[in-house]
Amino acid sequence: MPARRLLSPRAPRRVATVSVHTSPLDQPGAGDAGGMNVYIVEVSRRLAARGIAVDVFTRATSSDLPPVVEMTPGVTVRHVSAGPFEGLGKEELPAQLCAFTAGVLREEAQHEPGHYDVVHSHYWLSGQVGWLARDRWSVPLIHTAHTLAKVKNAALADGDRPEPRARVIGEEQVVAEADRLVANTEEEARQLVDHYGADPRRTLVVPPGVDLDRFRPGDRAAARRALGVPADAVVLTFVGRIQPLKAPDLLLEAAARMLEDDPALRDRLQVHVVGAPSGSGLEAPRRLEELAVRLGIADRVRFLPPQAPDRLALHYRAADVAVVPSHNESFGLVALEAQACGTPVVAAEVGGLITAVDDGVSGVLVGSRDPAAYAAAIRAVLARRALLAAGARRHASAFSWERTADALVAAYAAAAAEMAAGAAPARRERALGALWPVAGTQVAW
Ligand code: UDP
Repeated sequence: MPARRLLSPRAPRRVATVSVHTSPLDQPGAGDAGGMNVYIVEVSRRLAARGIAVDVFTRATSSDLPPVVEMTPGVTVRHVSAGPFEGLGKEELPAQLCAFTAGVLREEAQHEPGHYDVVHSHYWLSGQVGWLARDRWSVPLIHTAHTLAKVKNAALADGDRPEPRARVIGEEQVVAEADRLVANTEEEARQLVDHYGADPRRTLVVPPGVDLDRFRPGDRAAARRALGVPADAVVLTFVGRIQPLKAPDLLLEAAARMLEDDPALRDRLQVHVVGAPSGSGLEAPRRLEELAVRLGIADRVRFLPPQAPDRLALHYRAADVAVVPSHNESFGLVALEAQACGTPVVAAEVGGLITAVDDGVSGVLVGSRDPAAYAAAIRAVLARRALLAAGARRHASAFSWERTADALVAAYAAAAAEMAAGAAPARRERALGALWPVAGTQVAW
């Protein structure tokens, strides 16, 4: 390892953001692109506005992609060649991490030493890359997991594949190595400490934000006209990648239950499903369509492809209720965006949704996976919609990407100060000792 460069505890000038498996240039709502992409875009923009340059390293997934794209002034997306452009699934990417890391290190080597002040990795694959870059560049590694395999495996949906042991091990390594772990919520921070042995002093909670200018309340009738939805319709909206984890099937079943209980609703009820398939949900749209037919509500369900943010805001505004019935969510940006548009949310009482929704104030959290419980919660929200709509906007207004960016800059500076003081290496040895309690392994390291 090269000699440690002394860093002053100042705000960084240039951040290397690593996002191996999905690009901030991708449209979220399909495949591997979702909340993490939105997070990286929004945070990078805010860092650039604070005079901090951001380079986002992501895998090149098409030969058409230029090697370098300026996403916005101060934010550069760098496409790294690692494996074939197309046809490589996320589960195959661990074998490409060496190639990816080499690409990142070679790019940095073209500059003067000290080009980057910090590495911020997103998701465990990127954490593996950031780990090596951190050691080579002697800068802090900040890691945001976004999802955790152990948590995901504990709440698997029917038809969902468990996350492999290789991912669990990879996550444990990154948790041991990172100078700061950024959790979306207190619960995620606890999960990192309890299930992954994270050091609580290096684990901090930084809530994600929402763009309150883009996602703002508006004229519901106008939004409905723009989308071709009748003014008197009762619209229940699901937004997200179609995968078992997100459970759009539960919304369909709840809608069918509502029609059974109140046949007069038949002509007015509409269920909108916005998003495209992802991962083990590749078969899901067809299965969802079949389910709608089986439930006798096929004529009440509209499937819509992923929408760009401004159009998505129209969908939130047009909805009476946004429904987020996920088996688990590390946060659930969709819930926050809907509320920012003044639309109350019915969501599963799990993970980050407990923070994202203020139960009884901005929507209703449902503790059961029984469609009847969802139907009852939706009815309860419809009955108090005006009050909950005001609560929804109020609750969402407490979140902001500006605050997220400020907290991250503070974390970058604190980690750099700790590294300059020489605290980081000793901590790493301890962490590795805990991971591999074999004396020989520790010495070899
Ligand atoms: N999204 C979008 N268009 C769509 C569907 C989703 O832009 O058609 C975005 C949405 O605005 C949100 C993100 O995808 O910011 C999904 O994030 P969330 O945290 O809800 O779920 P994740 O994808 O992280 O599981």
